[in-house]
Amino acid sequence: MIRFEKITKKFADGTVAVDNVNLTVESGEFAVLIGPSGSGKTTTMKMINRLIPISSGKIYIDGEDTDKINPIELRRNIGYVIQQIGLFPHMTVGENIALVPRLKKWPEEKYAGRVDELLDLVGLNPKEYKNRFPNQLSGGQQQRIGVIRALAAEPPIILMDEPFGALDPITREQLQNELLRLQDAVKKTIVFVTHDMDEALKLGDRICIMKAGRVVQFDSSEKILREPANDFVEEFIGRER
Ligand code: ATP
Repeated sequence: MIRFEKITKKFADGTVAVDNVNLTVESGEFAVLIGPSGSGKTTTMKMINRLIPISSGKIYIDGEDTDKINPIELRRNIGYVIQQIGLFPHMTVGENIALVPRLKKWPEEKYAGRVDELLDLVGLNPKEYKNRFPNQLSGGQQQRIGVIRALAAEPPIILMDEPFGALDPITREQLQNELLRLQDAVKKTIVFVTHDMDEALKLGDRICIMKAGRVVQFDSSEKILREPANDFVEEFIGRER
């Protein structure tokens, strides 16, 4: 479980990106953050894995104050997927996927099979793809590798910041479906940022709508569609769909 308690982020120039946010994402839940550009989604996300320091408040993961966890250790236990995938170009697909398990000093027999299993899960034949380098893959294939790399060390939490934003609609839909299948199989706690309301409604157990650094509504898609918390939500859903 991830719990935000009165979280505020004020940047050095005075911008308040996140404003006194209380938020709980349950274990095994797929939570989607959505809101206009600049509403604080990425900042919220990056405070969870301490890529951005919190100005005030606390974030707890399973009851533990994240400020008290070594950030390197913390990040090894939180998968992170972003649009600019960040695969290491000098490593093969297999090496990219096995990186965190290796850093965590898993024995090779434990992760070798896992790499093949994950490649199979996203429809990439291990024999064909494991020894390729990232520049020998299409954008959609790289994005698939980005997703399974985040899963490889079996982190309980995965953060995904517009992971499918740059993909064509067909690949995007395939990856959404794969992600739903994966989530069903592995039941991770996922926080997913998107700009796309249809994507949010399709993927999220609950959707967190942000505006100007605040959470306006955090509910299931059915509830948001049926009972938008205010005019902003109603308009936002209407405009985005
Ligand atoms: P988008 O949908 O455009 O990606 P977002 O909802 O993810 O936006 P954030 O990236 O979290 O929004 O930014 C929230 C606010 O904080 C914005 O006003 C942004 O300009 C500001 N901001 C982000 N990073 C910094 C920084 N390093 N210094 C100052 N202000 C920043």
